[in-house]
Amino acid sequence: MADKVRLRIAPSPTGDPHVGTAYMALFNRAFAHHRDGKFVLRIEDTDQTRYNPSSVQEIIDSLGWLGLLPDEGPGLGGDYGPYVQTERRDLYLKSAQELVERGHAYRCFCTRERLEALRQEQAARKEPPRYDRHCRFLSTEEIASNLAESKPYTIRLKVPDEGQTSFRDLIRGEISFENKELQDPILLKSDGLPVYHLAVVVDDHYMEISHVVRAEEWISSTPLHVMLYNFFGWDEPFFAHMPLLRNSDRSKISKRKNNTAIKWYRDQGYLPEAMINFLALMGWSMPDGSEIFGYADVEREFTIERVTTSGPVFDLVKLTSINGKYIRALSDDELFERLLPYLPEGMDKERARKVLPVLKDRLTRLGEFVELTGFFFGPVPEYPADLLIPKKGTLKDAATALEQVKALLEGLTQPWTHEEWESGMRAIADNLGLKAGDLFMILRVAVTGSKVSPPLYESMEILGREEVLSRVDHALELARKAG
Ligand code: GLU
Repeated sequence: MADKVRLRIAPSPTGDPHVGTAYMALFNRAFAHHRDGKFVLRIEDTDQTRYNPSSVQEIIDSLGWLGLLPDEGPGLGGDYGPYVQTERRDLYLKSAQELVERGHAYRCFCTRERLEALRQEQAARKEPPRYDRHCRFLSTEEIASNLAESKPYTIRLKVPDEGQTSFRDLIRGEISFENKELQDPILLKSDGLPVYHLAVVVDDHYMEISHVVRAEEWISSTPLHVMLYNFFGWDEPFFAHMPLLRNSDRSKISKRKNNTAIKWYRDQGYLPEAMINFLALMGWSMPDGSEIFGYADVEREFTIERVTTSGPVFDLVKLTSINGKYIRALSDDELFERLLPYLPEGMDKERARKVLPVLKDRLTRLGEFVELTGFFFGPVPEYPADLLIPKKGTLKDAATALEQVKALLEGLTQPWTHEEWESGMRAIADNLGLKAGDLFMILRVAVTGSKVSPPLYESMEILGREEVLSRVDHALELARKAG
């Protein structure tokens, strides 16, 4: 085993980069860098039907956004390239042939039709589908004549009939599989492209990967990989299988039940440091039990012993609450900088900067800023007149209240003070026999168009006297017309 520490992630370039990729990148990078090693990105693109060329760049961009850039990878440099599997075909072909020569793999000439018929027979007998190893026992002459006829073939692994294959998982301990339970899987397809099992072992070997840290769904593939290392005569890496991220019903995290695209989180205004904190908590814990921590802490403290084995549920509510904490921890200036890309073109930036402190306490995503503050920027927002009706009151009561509020606002000394406004409001409420809360609500709706808003007085200050009065007038008109 090389004493270098080298870890990798090996995502397939299919569609939007996935939160599961970010999760694995986080732990692989922290593990590697904790031990002064390297973190490698390899693209597993041998499944051509699912290939999406722009997604390699998207993977790198997403990792960059999260602060998890690899040390080596496509377009990133490194001495172990190429880092894209389709550019390494010759190596897989050569390796597969080597296994055939050593008697650990064989050519399978079975046609699609034969395999399909076999599958149907097995289904009829209620047996699980498996290859019957027909070509494992072809004579040398049969093989030679098939080759002479240029019959297409795949290369299959010759799994031993007996015994067990075991490996020690750094997280889960010893794991064993009965060889007789394993099939003779295809290693190389008839088009010369490798399947995952062959490519992953060949690449991990030639890229000198020391620790394979990947999701638990690959545990059942690992015995085949261990066999391949043995048959090639190569040292095995260490294996560690991280718990899978799960939907709330505990199934593997999926698009149908969760937003799985990293991009979605970015667009919504989750901060990368909150994502990292959240993803880290899903699979690991800080030695001191702290809940809020950054990537540097994970890297400094990372030990595989602290990885959890129970399947963590990807809980958006929790992520959102962590994100809110990170937002509140930023200074107003920092937060404004981070917010800028989320503001629509043409929005009054100066006003946005003024609004920000008023809203900061309740902002859980940067993208929410625009949703929550539309009333600061647009014309008087549309809302149904009914929204103005106080509890146990009528629209007429709302109109009367608004008349008095209007008079109050017009008469306040300039500049307004919170105290004078508030005592005036309370006096009106007393006078009309309304609850103070109900009166504030009427004004809130008039000013913001909604019953939920940032603090009312501060919002009015930002909007300014003229704008507030015009909105109160509008509400008054609405209440009178509808009432
Ligand atoms: N291509 C596999 C994936 O998409 C890699 C699995 C592994 O890390 O071995 O997750």
